[in-house]
Amino acid sequence: MGTMDIIQDQGPRVRQIFNDFFKTEEIGSFVNGEIVHGAGETLNLTDPSSGRVFATFNDADQSVIDLAMEASGTAQREWMKLTASARGRIMFEIGRQIRENAAAIAEIESRSAGRPIRDIRGEAIKVAEMFEYYAGWCDKLHGEVIPVPTSHLNYTRNEPIGVVVQITPWNAPLFTGGWQIAPAICAGNGVVIKPSELTPLSTLILGALCERAGAPRGLVNVISGQGTTAGQAAIKHSKTGLVVFVGSAHAGSLIAATAAKSVVPCILELGGKSANIVFNDADIDRAILGAQSAIFGGAGQSCVAGSRLLVHRSIHQKFVERYASATNKIPVGNPFEDTTHVGPINNLRQWNKIAEMVELGLGEGATLAAGGGRPQALEGTGGFYFAPTILDNVAPNATLSREEVFGPVVGVTPFDTEEEAITLANNNPYGLAGAVWTQNVAKAHRVASQVRAGTFWINGYKTISVMSPFGGFGKSGYGRSSGKDALMAYTQTKSIWVETAAEPPVAFGYVG
Ligand code: NAD
Repeated sequence: MGTMDIIQDQGPRVRQIFNDFFKTEEIGSFVNGEIVHGAGETLNLTDPSSGRVFATFNDADQSVIDLAMEASGTAQREWMKLTASARGRIMFEIGRQIRENAAAIAEIESRSAGRPIRDIRGEAIKVAEMFEYYAGWCDKLHGEVIPVPTSHLNYTRNEPIGVVVQITPWNAPLFTGGWQIAPAICAGNGVVIKPSELTPLSTLILGALCERAGAPRGLVNVISGQGTTAGQAAIKHSKTGLVVFVGSAHAGSLIAATAAKSVVPCILELGGKSANIVFNDADIDRAILGAQSAIFGGAGQSCVAGSRLLVHRSIHQKFVERYASATNKIPVGNPFEDTTHVGPINNLRQWNKIAEMVELGLGEGATLAAGGGRPQALEGTGGFYFAPTILDNVAPNATLSREEVFGPVVGVTPFDTEEEAITLANNNPYGLAGAVWTQNVAKAHRVASQVRAGTFWINGYKTISVMSPFGGFGKSGYGRSSGKDALMAYTQTKSIWVETAAEPPVAFGYVG
């Protein structure tokens, strides 16, 4: 296939899908059940596979945020008037709607965000599962009766917070959107979600499907706008009860600082620099496959990416040779082709950052084992392609061992002992994920218990489920975004005391 065959104008097809859901081709925010247009700066949507702008929209201004917060507050009260079971039925219907529209959702995500279609089809179904899982929780979220040592009946209620502001990144807009919207509405909240200004489309569709499934108009509002403008305005809004942020550690700390000024709590799901540890007693074929999906899945634009590969010195050289040879075979190309495993980087800024980090890694003494830059075959496309890259012999304190690249770049570091592997894994302020490959069960569990990370895999990588809690240790953030833990994070506990004594209390003996 020639270069020109893979350059497509995504505009017409993206507009057509958008129009099918919203009856307009003009992109804006989805507020109180309709598309509203911001009055801010004009922002471009760029196709990562060609570098061409295919759509524009205006940044959401304060009036859009005010409208969304108001609508969400009103709808949230309506939502809570329904029985818990009725809310569950609507959430189940949202899941069904997502399944029914999975092909269109996957297509728009692939065309607009550059994610390989073969990954996104499955992801759309996972998003349906998120709503179905929490649908079942709606009528099982209840408090406790506590045997207090007084004459009182004391019970707790897990009440919704009110309106939740959610801010998500460009690397997985559909997935992170569902991941946050589902537990929030299950717990009874209204949502104002701001996806990345680079990738708002799939989240807009999720908002529309929530309403189509029967959620009150305005329960889920989707803001198309920038973080520093629309995002900050939403965080500062007087109706905001909780901020949930998925993105970089840098933005996360700024967001938490803004929220703290009005004593609004935050859940932060931030970046990572996860260690993938391979011992010499591992099933090597599986470990090589695992080390590929760990870092090259999603072109490395994954918060849990296994970007530090720690390999036992006795197998290090052979392992890297085989890993590099496998990596050179990974099909990189147009995300909309079924055969593509690794698509483009989402945006040029990120591509440049990845190239700089590779250069820095080589300058600090690493050796190039695979990749290193733009694949030659894709030179003329204008797309932001970066070849899967392996840098070997990365020193434990090199920049590449400390800082997130957020691209298809893995740094390999050899180790000698189990203790050293654990020390190296923990030699980082992040703590999002990690993995170990060994056939020794006891060793696997020893390592799993000692690596500081919110998610850890034994002889696997990257599997996550809405049923299991997910979140970071250390600089990877705080709070949990799935499973039962997320529900608790999206509620506030009220303690209610009912006096049951036959005689009135006697602390003060006067009634008038
Ligand atoms: P980013 O932090 O630049 O942006 C994320 C979101 O925050 C966007 O919607 C952006 O508009 C908004 N934003 C940015 N600055 C803001 C500010 N000052 N105030 C309010 N909002 C602001 O991150 P990104 O580059 O879009 O995404 C990549 C990062 O996300 C990586 O660090 C990655 O590890 C992380 N990530 C984490 C998880 C997780 O669950 N832990 C999942 C996916 C991505």
